[in-house]
Amino acid sequence: MLLPAAPARKRVAVLLPRPFQGTFDYAVPNGLDPQPGDVVLVPLNRREEVGVVWDAPAGPSVADAKLKPVTAVLDTAPIPSALRRFIDWVAGYTLATPGEVLAMALRVNALQPETPAAGWRIADAAKGKPLTEARARVSALLAGGAPQTTTAIARGASVSAGVVRGMAQAGLLTPVALPARAPFATPDPTHPGPVLSGAQATASETLRGAVASRRFSVTLLDGVTGSGKTEVYLEAIAECMEQGRQALVLLPEIALSSQWLERFEARFGVAPAVWHSDLASRIRRITWRAVADGAAPVVVGARSALFLPFPDLGLVIVDEEHETAFKQEDGVVYHARDMAVVRARLAEAPAVLVSATPSLETLANVEAGRYRRMTLATRHGGATLPTVAAIDLRITPPERGRFLSPPLVTAVQDTLARGEQAMLFLNRRGYAPLTLCRACGHRMQCPNCTAWLVEHRARRVLTCHHCAHTEPIPPLCPHCSAENSLVPIGPGVERITEEVAAVFPDARRLVMASDTLPGPHAAAEAAHAIERREVDLIIGTQIVAKGWHFPHLTLVGVVDADLGLSGGDLRAAERTVQLLHQVAGRAGRAEAPGTVLLQTFSPEHPVMQALVGGDLQAFMTAEAEGRKPGHWPPYGRLAALIVSADTAQVADEVARDLGHAAPRAEGVLVLGPAPAPLAILRGRHRRRLLLKTRRDVAVQPLLRAWLDQVRVPGSARVDVDVDPVSFL
Ligand code: ADP
Ligand code: ZN
Repeated sequence: MLLPAAPARKRVAVLLPRPFQGTFDYAVPNGLDPQPGDVVLVPLNRREEVGVVWDAPAGPSVADAKLKPVTAVLDTAPIPSALRRFIDWVAGYTLATPGEVLAMALRVNALQPETPAAGWRIADAAKGKPLTEARARVSALLAGGAPQTTTAIARGASVSAGVVRGMAQAGLLTPVALPARAPFATPDPTHPGPVLSGAQATASETLRGAVASRRFSVTLLDGVTGSGKTEVYLEAIAECMEQGRQALVLLPEIALSSQWLERFEARFGVAPAVWHSDLASRIRRITWRAVADGAAPVVVGARSALFLPFPDLGLVIVDEEHETAFKQEDGVVYHARDMAVVRARLAEAPAVLVSATPSLETLANVEAGRYRRMTLATRHGGATLPTVAAIDLRITPPERGRFLSPPLVTAVQDTLARGEQAMLFLNRRGYAPLTLCRACGHRMQCPNCTAWLVEHRARRVLTCHHCAHTEPIPPLCPHCSAENSLVPIGPGVERITEEVAAVFPDARRLVMASDTLPGPHAAAEAAHAIERREVDLIIGTQIVAKGWHFPHLTLVGVVDADLGLSGGDLRAAERTVQLLHQVAGRAGRAEAPGTVLLQTFSPEHPVMQALVGGDLQAFMTAEAEGRKPGHWPPYGRLAALIVSADTAQVADEVARDLGHAAPRAEGVLVLGPAPAPLAILRGRHRRRLLLKTRRDVAVQPLLRAWLDQVRVPGSARVDVDVDPVSFL
């Protein structure tokens, strides 16, 4: 007898935001109809997990009877198809699992129902009652006005939050639910902007055309520092809004972008939606939803903004595209500039890469005809580019124990005497990078890392810039117990600041470093103080190189121009030129011309020559020629394997096994294994292998096959870094 075959149950593939290899199948119960992109709740190991219905055809690998059903389809915006394909693409390229990449897209509690913020109004019971002075101020503040939150009342009435809570407990305040307020208003593309110069107008028309075409393209907007690139691409954003599509702007360090945000507001009337990892969770949720339902037409953000659920992305801009801050080094290791181009392609939208010092990668793409290039050759408003000169430290060294040479001191003096501002740049935080015992030569080292401890004198500590290990500066040498024998070697910005205080006691100083400017607010305050001329002399780390526009700044002194050139990094020269050119670009951006002085022991070095001669193009051409023969990026591909383990022995074993299993093929070379320059990091022993291939070789399949052959014990791990930027 034939039984009628049971109809196959409907099933869907669900991707979970976890490092599993692929999707899981779930049965679709009657009454539910989950579509690709829908956010669903599913059972997993006796728990409920949030996942996303994926496009992969649900396979029959699990028998129908064993399938668990989807619990619920959540009432939240779906993950759009372009983002789903992007997640798969990033996973495929970086060798992360799609679930790990999805986790970045779902790193928001968007699914939590919106709890309205609680506010207070004055209770009827309070009316006509005698109140203490503080309570009377609260009562006066709320009388007749809209309800306010505890924080707002405390601020508005100059009372503590305790006063507000006390009044609530005494029944003098009545709770009210406040309506959820979007943290941003809608920018107005027709709000009048500045009149663009001829070259700016040409570039902006090209970009507007690219946006209007609604097709993928990549444009390099390359203009000298101060040429007004921002104003140009803001026009492309206006066009995008007029097209009814959304625009995404990636900035390397959103905390240092106060001037950018002010510029945006001046152009469009209101601030844009902002996205970065430090957002309060409520703002994060509101912003995520506003992006998902199209209510946020412009988002400016850090790398993670690439994973926002834009339903109709029409433009992606990467400002300061040469910045290494776009490379994410933890978790899913990816380069946000490169992934931004992919994101744009999958959204059928143009990408614009912006820089005064474009990366060799981008220039090679221009050269190969893959990217269009628009150039702004002069500064806005007739300002001239600064004059750059080298100070040869072999000829005019600083006094003993000092770091500023006589010509630099004189230049600063002259600048201050003219009432202009000067800036000293040294890319090193703290007081001194090394502390040494004069008696026995002992060096103060981090107990967890292959690194010296950096003295931070103001805080009286030695600290590791890799693992944050911190200890008080010891009174005796921990090795030989000599007294007063520990001496600082070399300068950090703190030490330069001390020298400046001694040499220019009357100058008003400001230190710009990540530890002196904690957070966006402090950085914005510092920028305002400089704009208002409340500061004469700025001493800073790489923070000062970031796009700032300080009209009264005319002198930039680079304390140690050779700093970035040591070490075996393939991009050391390129990066030094970019960084120093960007710092130099802060000088003379208004009427008064700027001067840049580079303190160096090798003025003949091609990097110094390029900066002094101002011919970056020639430098980059030479750099390209140097990389072509060895198939170094961008004329070849690199991928790094980083082995880390609890013990040196396990690290060595895994690294050796990887070395034996290394792929061998035409156009493929494996370097290493070798101890990483940071051979111990946070107590983990590290080894590196580097895969170098010709450009036409796809490295991902090679890497997958390679890793499959090696068994990695639980105490070790192998991290993959495709297109490495850091070689530590
Ligand atoms: P870049 O990013 O190319 O270094 P910016 O965009 O910071 O240059 O522009 C430098 C300064 O010139 C800014 O203060 C900017 O507002 C101003 N600026 C640029 N273009 C114009 C314009 N067309 N009209 C008025 N001001 C402009
Ligand atoms: Zn450390």
